[in-house]
Parts: sequence; structure tokens; C-alpha cells
Amino acid sequence: RQYLERIDQFRHLNAFVEVFAEEALERARSLDERVRSGARLGPLGGVVTGIKDVICYKGHQVSASSNILKGFTSLYSATAVERLLEADAVIIGNLNCDEFAMGSSNENSAHGKVLNALDTSRVPGGSSGGSAVAVQADLCLVSLGSDTGGSVRQPADFCGIIGLKPTYGRISRHGLIAYASSFDQIGIFGKDIADVAAVLQVIAGPDTYDSTASQKEVPDYQSCLKDNKSYKIAYLRDALHHEGLDAEMRTGYEQFFDNLKATGHTVEAVDFEYLDYVVAAYYVLTTAEASSNLSRFDGVKYGYRTPTGGLELNDFYKKSRSEGFGKEVKRRILLGTFVLSAGYYDAYFTKAQQVRRLVVEKMNGILSDYDAILLPTVPTTAFKIGEKMEDPIAMYLADIYTVLANLTGVPAISIPLQRHSNGMPYGIQIIAKQFDEGHLLQIAKNLL
Ligand code: GLN
Repeated sequence: RQYLERIDQFRHLNAFVEVFAEEALERARSLDERVRSGARLGPLGGVVTGIKDVICYKGHQVSASSNILKGFTSLYSATAVERLLEADAVIIGNLNCDEFAMGSSNENSAHGKVLNALDTSRVPGGSSGGSAVAVQADLCLVSLGSDTGGSVRQPADFCGIIGLKPTYGRISRHGLIAYASSFDQIGIFGKDIADVAAVLQVIAGPDTYDSTASQKEVPDYQSCLKDNKSYKIAYLRDALHHEGLDAEMRTGYEQFFDNLKATGHTVEAVDFEYLDYVVAAYYVLTTAEASSNLSRFDGVKYGYRTPTGGLELNDFYKKSRSEGFGKEVKRRILLGTFVLSAGYYDAYFTKAQQVRRLVVEKMNGILSDYDAILLPTVPTTAFKIGEKMEDPIAMYLADIYTVLANLTGVPAISIPLQRHSNGMPYGIQIIAKQFDEGHLLQIAKNLL
């Protein structure tokens, strides 16, 4: 009830697409009953959780914040949702995002923009902006988002909370609407590392419905959190000295590294010469995958279809898709179709795959020598609504620090670090080895 009241009070933030008020109350009541009758609840007993509007929940509408899925109801639940429910969490609603998770500001949503609760003239980040603001403004305790190139870590940074993108394959993608399948990963928002760890514990692990979900055993994350030691940490010199990084934030990071050294950690600068290529490689590969994934939305099988009658089949597809998709999604389908087309494939797609391979090898090399890599999450604090909408390239370039973890599949977390003199928070990103979320969460907790 308290959360529902707050959701009502903060409706202007536009974080929720739909609130499952009655259902959530009913579930809370039945959990109360079970407690009264002496039963022990699951590990997330009564934990009020929100889910991004790209995650399927049986019997509930899911739209990927797109008009093309208007009125579509999920036929099954995502594995992550099934596991939340089995663990006795209460799902309170689904959360606004950029259309098909494409964006960095939540301004590309068919449900309208989401406002940053700390300053409503600024964006909350994206694409999981609703999931970030819901936790930021205490409209739920934790939430799920998806992170293809930063969509959990970047809005977490802009909103001053924690955002975790686990290793690719740690959490099943079954029931997550696909954007770029070799990058997509469900991620978790929270205000406390232990909460994030508890949710990961429940939703991680193998799944017969997703062949890319890893068979690796899920460790006990809470016990990982107990350790504290001196870490050997690398930071990327090229990231810290990048021209796009806000000068005040750079000083903040340098001071933070000095503090870490003063408290007994080893902190060393390493070279990372590929930084200027990662955004380009990311946008070539993800738009290629998106153009293929989004071909299923043809006006026949899901959601929206054009009301215009008497069209030839191809014209019907064209009209349904032209009317149903928003501008940014169309831009990406066109880009992706272009980079995959005969004559350009080798110059763009193959080249980007080669860049990806180089970046993977470089990152794994660094991670074999260090416990973790530190780098900024985003080059600036949350920008003003409308500020970057006319310049998609500038918007894409701001993904420079987050896409690294998706290109390479490693786990990464953004934790709040400081407040900028402009009043907005900024965080720091920690990256660890593949499937080493235990260590990642432990380092995050100890550095926080
Ligand atoms: N901003 C990035 C993009 O627009 C990341 C999106 C995401 O992680 N879903 O592709």
C-alpha cells in the first residue's frame, strides 16, 4: 500500500506503463496469510519489484514502449519473472523505457518520456529509465531492466542508484524481447548491494528455454559479500583522459583512485587503445542484430496492424511497420539492414566483429592480471530533456564506457560515487571477470 501511494504521488515522473495495483495487493495479502499460518516465505518474500516493459509476464500487456506492440498480451512469463514469483516477490507493475530498449534518455518511448526524480528538467537515462526512476523514487524496492549497451548502468548512474549487468548468459533471456541477442542481458536496479545480490541469486542460472544461458553453477552471493581484502585494480588510462569526460568528474575519479591507494589497494593505469572504436563496433553489430530481430513485427503476428484495407502483402507490411515503429527504431533497422547488405557486409559487419574479437582479447588480458577494472559509467551527468534528441551521434558517443562490457560479455556494475557541483549524482563502473559476479558485488560493496 505504501508503494502504491507513492506511485500515485509520483505519477508525473511517468515511470510506470501499468501498475498491477489490485493484483499486487492480493498477492501481498496472501503472503501475509502464509506468514500468519507459520509458513516460511521464499528468499524474496514480499519484495516489491518492478519490471521493464520488455520483459514478458503472462497475462499482462507488454509493449517494449512501442506502438507496434500496442494491446499485445504476454502468452508466457520470462524465466526471470517466473523465478521472482517462485521466490515470493510482489510484481507491482511494468516500467517505461525507450522503444525496444533503443536509447539513452528514455525520450524514445511511445508512452512518453520519464523524468529524473532529482531534477525533473533532466532525463533519467535509458533505455531502462522507468526501472531506474522507480527505484530512485522508492516506488518499488528493486527492479529489472535490460542492458544491451548500458541501459541498466547508465540510468543507474544518472539517478544515483546501483545498476548491475551480469555476465552474458548468467540470466536467461527467455521472455526478454530481443534487441541485439548477442549483447542483451537482464540487469538489476537497487539501492543496496545485498538487495541486488539477493535478486541475482534468484533469477540467475541455467534455463532449458535459453541455450545461451550458462550451465555454470550460481554461487552463494551473500556469502561472497562477507569478504573484504585489498584488491588489485586497473583503470583505463584512455578512458580517464578521454576528451568527452567532464573535467570535474575526472578529478573526482582521480581522487577516488588516490583514496583507494591510501587504504591499501593497488590501483594501476593500463592502456586500452581501442576505446575510440567500441561505439562504432557496438552500433554496427547491434543494429544488424536488431534489423533481424525486429523483422518479426510485420503487422500480422503481434500487436498493431495498419487499418488501411486492400493492400498488397508487401505494402501491408510496409505500412504497418511505418506506422507502428518510432523514429529511432526505424533509423536502426535501416542502419542494420545497410551494414548487412551485399557489398557492405565485409566493410562494416565483418570489420566490427573483428574489432569485437580484439576488444575481448584485450579485456581478458587485463582481467587476468587484475581483480577488477574501474572506469566512469557515463562521460557526463544526466543531461537536460531534449538536449541530445536532434543529434543521435552525440547520444551514441555517450555510450563509450558502457558498451565495453556488452561487447565482451563481462559483468559490470555502476555504483553511486559523488554529487557533481551541478547537483546531479555520478557513479563509477566496476568490471570483473566472466561469471565473477560474486567478486564484483563484493568489491562494489567494499568500495561503496
Ligand atoms: N544506449 C544504448 C543504445 O541505444 C544502450 C541501449 C541498451 O542497453 N538497451 O543502444
